[in-house]
Amino acid sequence: MTVLNGTTDYSSFFVDGRWAAPAGSGTLEVRAAATGDRLGSVPEATESDVDSAVGAARGAFDDPHGWAHWSPQERREALERFAAALEQRAEQTATRVSAQNGMPLPVAMQFEGGFPAMLLRYYAGLAADAPADETRDGMLGGRARVIGEPLGVVGAIVPWNVPQGITFLKIAPALAAGCTVVLKPAPETVLDAMLMAEAAEEARLPAGVLNIVPGGREVGAHLVSHPEVDKVSFTGSTAAGRAIAETCGRLLRPVTLELGGKSAAIVLDDADLASTIESFFASTLLNSGQICWLGTRVLAPRSRYDEVVDTVSGLAGALVIGDPLAEGTQIGPLVSERQRDRVEAYIAKGRAEGARLTVGGGRPEGHEQGWFLQPTVFADVDNGHTIAQEEIFGPVLSVIPYSGEDEAVAIANDSDYGLGGSVWTRDPDRGEAVARRVRTGSIGINHYVNDPVAPFGGVKASGIGRELGPEALNSYRTVKTIYLGPPAQG
Ligand code: NAD
Repeated sequence: MTVLNGTTDYSSFFVDGRWAAPAGSGTLEVRAAATGDRLGSVPEATESDVDSAVGAARGAFDDPHGWAHWSPQERREALERFAAALEQRAEQTATRVSAQNGMPLPVAMQFEGGFPAMLLRYYAGLAADAPADETRDGMLGGRARVIGEPLGVVGAIVPWNVPQGITFLKIAPALAAGCTVVLKPAPETVLDAMLMAEAAEEARLPAGVLNIVPGGREVGAHLVSHPEVDKVSFTGSTAAGRAIAETCGRLLRPVTLELGGKSAAIVLDDADLASTIESFFASTLLNSGQICWLGTRVLAPRSRYDEVVDTVSGLAGALVIGDPLAEGTQIGPLVSERQRDRVEAYIAKGRAEGARLTVGGGRPEGHEQGWFLQPTVFADVDNGHTIAQEEIFGPVLSVIPYSGEDEAVAIANDSDYGLGGSVWTRDPDRGEAVARRVRTGSIGINHYVNDPVAPFGGVKASGIGRELGPEALNSYRTVKTIYLGPPAQG
């Protein structure tokens, strides 16, 4: 690694427990979202590097005395060391993520600095305290021992929006279950992945247990189809998820897919939005709208429509836009020029389709460098409009009117997606009754938080499978039954 004039350039990446020279000569350049300045580079993996990484993970998994055969308690100790090493780097990691993708630093400290260690400890404890091993009395005279065994080599592919948090949604349960991992980070956010590798090295994870191959979609596709990979865990766009699912279907390879979203924030007619405005912000516009579960369709009762539009527009218009590393910033830049172009195209589409822009819609003054965009609210949006149907992945909210709870639920469910959502009401019981009717993987009442203990994932085009909770641990296990004879007599 070379650090020069504030840029960090790596000449190797982490495979088989060491910093290995890449097979090719390509590099991935990383730029700051707030300025476009160069932050550093990482060598780009080739297919041959992926082969080496998968070979290392396979060797580590198949070692008869290796990771998969350690007791859950032994793995717990190693993962505790990994968690501690990550915590030591929490600030550096959060700062790198903020600089790369524009996430405000306090958010990055939570999602990127703190959450990974929390997940490692949660899953290491879960696996150690409740090993998947149960003997059942049979109905036909014998007994059956049912064992959860680690599934094997996991190919994990993650996006740039919450790079560390999303990575650990996958690798914490995978490692705790006894799997070995090849991780492919997104090219926009590879620098923080190098810190993760340093932490793994410091924690003395056995060679081959965690391998990191930086690259783009071709590298990802090679990993997905590699014959020695036993499971794929992917977070990203629905389009890429479909391609990955096709490959995994052909190979009969288990796959977890966390894909796009267009969730509904349902404001009921008794809601007190003003008193929950911080939670409302965190559930709709956090990270400049670059989080998959955000409630970007705000459903407002006609009886209070103007008031809800005013409150939401007031919130969006008052947010502090700025350098993600500066104190007080609530809205940083988007991750890249390409992403801002994409979001601006949706804003133009919203206007063209007749929605009423109430705030934002352009680039903020005083932020000529980088990929800044004003938080934007459209009113009078029809749920059939493009901006209400397609995932924008930027700071753009659509306020859609409804009459009565039945129509609110119908609009919420009239989407290809079903990932997150929220209900805003003074009456939690009423909120839960509405929440139960929404076709989605998770939904909150007056707030939305991905708690480690509770499964998170999507229905419909938002994906297959669940992360978080004990459910995710089991998704990295395969179940084996050993038929035992009857208990010995005497
Ligand atoms: P993307 O799908 O283009 O890329 C995501 C990752 O997959 C990157 O590492 C990329 O290199 C890789 N990739 C792309 N195509 C691939 C292929 N065919 N085979 C293998 N790997 C491939 O997504 P993006 O634009 O980087 O991220 C934004 C998307 O991610 C949004 O749609 C968002 O909703 C989604 N997302 C979903 C969740 C969730 O948990 N459901 C969380 C965060 C982001």
